[in-house]
Amino acid sequence: MIRPRAECLRIRCRWILPIGRPALESGWIGISGGIVTSLGQGIPPGPFIDLEDAIIVPGFVNAHTHLEFSNLQSPLDTSGGLLAWIPRVVAMRRQRDPHTVCDAITKGIEESLAAGVTAIGDIVTTEYPTKKSTDPQIVCLQEVLGLSPLSASRIQTMRTRLASLRSAGYRVGISPHAPYSLSWTNSHSLCTEASKHSMVMAMHLGEGPLEEEFTKTSSGPWKDLLQQYDVWPLDRVVRLGTAADWIMRLSKAPRGMIVHGTFFDDVTLGQASRRRKTLCVVVCPRTTNRLSDRLPPIQRFLAAGLRVALGTDSRASNPDLSILREIELLVSSGLVSPKQAISMATHNGAWALGLERTCGILAPGRPADVVVLQPEKKTGEPYSAIVDPSTIVRAVLRKGRLVSGSLD
Ligand SMILES: [Zn+2]
Repeated sequence: MIRPRAECLRIRCRWILPIGRPALESGWIGISGGIVTSLGQGIPPGPFIDLEDAIIVPGFVNAHTHLEFSNLQSPLDTSGGLLAWIPRVVAMRRQRDPHTVCDAITKGIEESLAAGVTAIGDIVTTEYPTKKSTDPQIVCLQEVLGLSPLSASRIQTMRTRLASLRSAGYRVGISPHAPYSLSWTNSHSLCTEASKHSMVMAMHLGEGPLEEEFTKTSSGPWKDLLQQYDVWPLDRVVRLGTAADWIMRLSKAPRGMIVHGTFFDDVTLGQASRRRKTLCVVVCPRTTNRLSDRLPPIQRFLAAGLRVALGTDSRASNPDLSILREIELLVSSGLVSPKQAISMATHNGAWALGLERTCGILAPGRPADVVVLQPEKKTGEPYSAIVDPSTIVRAVLRKGRLVSGSLD
């Protein structure tokens, strides 16, 4: 085999799926200086690597995760659903050594790359590791919680954190945590901040069955849980926003991610649908399956005209950070076609994170973030082969550099 120089690479394989244009059978991709320079079919000009039956797709986008939990060996116990799981997360966070957070994030980044994920929307709570040139594109979404009005100093702390992440080379955004953990009085300032600085936003909404009722009545098991942690103020009334309220706010940001949306009623879904120019839904199928004993209602989202992107959520609720495994579950459950699922995992994920100009498709002039998949058997149809559980991630290129696996 002739091995071209790494900075100028041509790879030929059975299928190339650029996404957004037809698949190329017996396709090849040219890469130079970290950028896709050409796509074609047949024999490429000059020396090339022949990967025979492999399939090439754009790097996967994990639009929602919490990398800070990536050092967990296995998910926390999810029995009892979200309300029982949250105290286990809180206990785990309290017990961990805060100095291990950066290591956990680094571990999550490495695991993601090995799984073919080259862009990530990460919910950030504390410090963050130094950026490496081979890292995926990461949008760091600073998490905000609080049932009291945010003080000027807390807002300033958030701004300082965002500025430091930005100067470290990360893209940034804001993540109001959830309607049950954040006072509605904070919504305006957070959304104004995001809008003013063109930041994306992400929020857990419609995640649990009792969430909406709690935001309307301020009573029930959610209140009991918050009181247990002494975070529910006893000396004043807390105004919570419903999912529909928050959707209205999120839509003012340049891009708003509704994370989960599993328990939306028709009114809330309608609210999201009317604002779909700037909003999308990010579903985390395996996490939802574990915590809510059901799969995301993707057909409802699609019928409402909403874009759907995919996330893994964290290793506190999921055994790994593989978007390919999320796709497999969706397709094997009959919720979407393989082609739809792959589009959600690439193109739609890029849009969700505001990265549609830099990832999600393979096209000349775009960064060469590429996944090489190796099906076990020869296939006449690439989409089904990708979602076959026997297909493995053979190699991953980030900006044209091999960051995982092998092209041999
Ligand atoms: Zn989450």
